[in-house]
Amino acid sequence: MKYKELNINEKLFGKDYLVYDWVESGEEIHIYIKSKSCKAICPNCGETSSFFHATYVRKIQAVPIHLKTTYLHVTAYKYKCLNESCETKVIMETLSFASASQVRTTELTSLILTVSIFLSNEGASKVLSFIGVRISNDTIKRIYDKIIIEDNPEVEAEGIDDVAIRKGHTYATAIYDLNDHHLIALLEGRDAPTLKIWLKEHKKSNLLHVIEQVLMLRQLMKYCLHVLKWQTDFIYFKI
Ligand SMILES: [Zn+2]
Repeated sequence: MKYKELNINEKLFGKDYLVYDWVESGEEIHIYIKSKSCKAICPNCGETSSFFHATYVRKIQAVPIHLKTTYLHVTAYKYKCLNESCETKVIMETLSFASASQVRTTELTSLILTVSIFLSNEGASKVLSFIGVRISNDTIKRIYDKIIIEDNPEVEAEGIDDVAIRKGHTYATAIYDLNDHHLIALLEGRDAPTLKIWLKEHKKSNLLHVIEQVLMLRQLMKYCLHVLKWQTDFIYFKI
């Protein structure tokens, strides 16, 4: 059997980047990456430009390899926006694995958030350091503070859950869009009135229909019990 060598670089970072150097010490790994892109889309006007302007280097912390703090040094391109009416003159190439101006890969940020859900920020920072992630408790807090929860008034199928925030001191009601399980609302407390107000603003909600049916059923049962009591009273009266 012939074995064909896999292009791991492509598997790790996608076909638009090539890895050209790897420097490893006792505690850190530095991976040097060069972009192979030849065009970029202007975030302001939406036009595509392939007019090369310059290169720039970004240092981004990534998910640790071999439990060592891992940094990517990415050489990416800047392009000129050729749309004369556009205010953006220089377009910075966007990277598929890290958002603009972020110093961590999206994957690493997800890992940090996942670990810190179950621990205090100090605890998460310590545990993460054992596997090679370098992050302070203040930075974890800043990441949390930046999370934006976008509600969707048109949501049709949602899930609901009790969650503890601030590590067990405060409780909230989390509502998820069941299509992709992303958080669309975090309501204060776990009380029914707060949920009721939210449901009133989401007319297509499946929960709203279920609650309406439950209320109807409750009314029907009340009526049945009333009829039953009336029949029992009538029977007793007869005998
Ligand atoms: Zn533009």
